[in-house]
Amino acid sequence: MYDCIIVGAGPAGGTAAYHLAKQGHSVLILEKASLPRYRPSGGAVSPAIAQWFDFDLAPTISMKVDRVRYTLKNKDPVEVELETAEPMWMVKRDTLDRFLVQQAQDKGAELRDNTTVTGIEFKGDSWQVNTTGEAVVGRYLIGADGPTGSMAKWLKLKPAKTRLAAALEVPASNPEPAIGFEMGLVKNGFIWSFPKADGYSLGAATMLGGDSKKLPSILTDYAGKIGLDVKAAKSYEHSVTLWNGDRTLHSQNALLAGDAAGVADPFTAEGVRPSIYTGMKAAEAISMALKGQGDALAEYTQVIKDTWGSEMVWAGRLAGAFFRFPGIGYKVGVKQPIATQLMLKILCGENQYSKLVGRATKRLSGGLF
Ligand SMILES: Cc1cc2nc3c(=O)[nH]c(=O)nc-3n(C[C@H](O)[C@H](O)[C@H](O)COP(=O)(O)OP(=O)(O)OC[C@H]3O[C@@H](n4cnc5c(N)ncnc54)[C@H](O)[C@@H]3O)c2cc1C
Repeated sequence: MYDCIIVGAGPAGGTAAYHLAKQGHSVLILEKASLPRYRPSGGAVSPAIAQWFDFDLAPTISMKVDRVRYTLKNKDPVEVELETAEPMWMVKRDTLDRFLVQQAQDKGAELRDNTTVTGIEFKGDSWQVNTTGEAVVGRYLIGADGPTGSMAKWLKLKPAKTRLAAALEVPASNPEPAIGFEMGLVKNGFIWSFPKADGYSLGAATMLGGDSKKLPSILTDYAGKIGLDVKAAKSYEHSVTLWNGDRTLHSQNALLAGDAAGVADPFTAEGVRPSIYTGMKAAEAISMALKGQGDALAEYTQVIKDTWGSEMVWAGRLAGAFFRFPGIGYKVGVKQPIATQLMLKILCGENQYSKLVGRATKRLSGGLF
């Protein structure tokens, strides 16, 4: 009998496992892939995640970047130097995710990869978790099984809404250390380009919904247009779950974290930082529950709503205003140096949407009417 079984070894699961194991609880992580595993993701990660760990994340950073270039339909480039205390981190997700799980293992957590969870059953006071290997039993469960996992459904919680994003990994020697954002080529969304030591991770998503079928070809065209050699590039599609309202994240002896909880930013698609944050908060809640605090799991739902959720309300409003009219957003937002600095500070965890968005939406509607 484990104190907690965690389904999924992404940033949410790895973080939860680390914090629970550090508190001395017995933890089992179940992961269907073989680790380290490739995970389509831009890998742009806010340095703000460092505050939630007591170990150094430097081994996971492929590159640090403090320059951003925006374009509108491949024209009108705007370059911005980041003025944040720490540049943005570019990570490879196979490295970051494996590293977090390894830290958890070093604290005593157990990992079974190549093991798919096939169903769960509550048996009196604990969960039986059925897998492609043997069934295992834990007092508490964390569903950290990503955007298309089944844990939310099995726990009778509302699954997060998913949409498809496209990713393109382009190998390159000496990639330029600059982030690229292209607005206007993807309807209701955008394209990003994040450098790594050995290439670029490009991606495209529609943030307000719409046709995602054309995203892979739009992305490959774009890569060619900005001069990347796409002959050896690899193309992927993967779901994203963008925050679209607060939801109940707890059920009988169980919590959801990360993409399974639908916490990615609806304006930027940033999901690693909120996955790590919710993984840490889920671990805190389960640790309190194991120590006898009866309302600890309900409190987790409330804490995520009051902290991350209250910020995402503003991110959602900004996305609605910006992506419908990217030309105006570009003129009154991107092209204003102060606006981009503030936005980049949000990405680096040094500012909050709630402080910025009232002003920004006024500017956007000022541009409209
Ligand atoms: C194309 C793309 C680009 C992105 N770029 C960025 C970016 O640059 N920066 C950023 O912050 N965010 C980005 N995101 C979002 C980010 O990748 C996610 O928010 C983040 O990976 C969520 O982490 P997680 O731990 O919740 O889930 P995941 O990382 O998806 O991990 C879930 C794990 O659960 C496992 N699993 C699923 N079902 C089962 C099962 N039944 N049994 C056992 N294991 C199971 C999966 O194999 C997986 O390893 C991007 C997303 C996409 C699609």
